[in-house]
Amino acid sequence: MQIVSIPCSFDNYSYLIICEETGAAAIIDPAEYYPVSQAIERLGVRLQAVYCTHHHADHIGGLEDLRDEFPGLPVYGHESDKRRIPGMNSLLTDGSNIHVGDIAGQVLHTPGHTTGSLCYLLEDALFTGDTLFGSGCGRLFEGSPKQMYEALNKRIKSLPAETKVYFGHEYTVHNLKFAAFVEPENQAVGKRLAQIIALREKGQPTTPSTLQIEGHTNPFLRCAEKNIIDSVAAKCIGEALDPLSIFTALRRLRDSF
Ligand SMILES: [Zn+2]
Repeated sequence: MQIVSIPCSFDNYSYLIICEETGAAAIIDPAEYYPVSQAIERLGVRLQAVYCTHHHADHIGGLEDLRDEFPGLPVYGHESDKRRIPGMNSLLTDGSNIHVGDIAGQVLHTPGHTTGSLCYLLEDALFTGDTLFGSGCGRLFEGSPKQMYEALNKRIKSLPAETKVYFGHEYTVHNLKFAAFVEPENQAVGKRLAQIIALREKGQPTTPSTLQIEGHTNPFLRCAEKNIIDSVAAKCIGEALDPLSIFTALRRLRDSF
């Protein structure tokens, strides 16, 4: 499996998945037409499908032109997004199996950012859209804090630590500044922030991460850590301190950070 990260628009990522045995390829989140189409042409692969993590316009901005270029293109998304993703013709639910050539994958329904948000697991690569970011998570536009907490801390966190995380936006620097704000004593956060700033200065993407790195540096996956609990208790006086309440308080703090 070859994965090509394609920077799109202002800070989005589209991903091109290529089965090297068969030449088959799929796009996850066609954020913008031109860079996606260029990558397909440059690599000489056969685009067989588009997989959408959710319906937001900045993730499907290139979809209409791709459908024009590749008539009959299968467009996958969560079944509940059928009327919100134009041209979506292939419906997925939690646990659906997918294939890109010989590469087998599985769908995780992870509501929170939106009600229909999906993550795609292909071998050891997890494509998280706006659910999990480098050291952060998506805003709660449609789902509840409990849904997002469970998506991140029960579903995603139970995958192997070496799972690579390919996220939908380049937000990692700002997310790490927030992580340092809520957990200043976390040395892994400080170290990663310095590494990531150096990467960005060279114009390099910070995707992919791994679940191991996220487990050490992402406050939204660390809701039961004593340092985080103490920090929320000090910043949000009177807040309940169970993991879901900590998660909810962290998300609220991040919204205005
Ligand atoms: Zn979104």
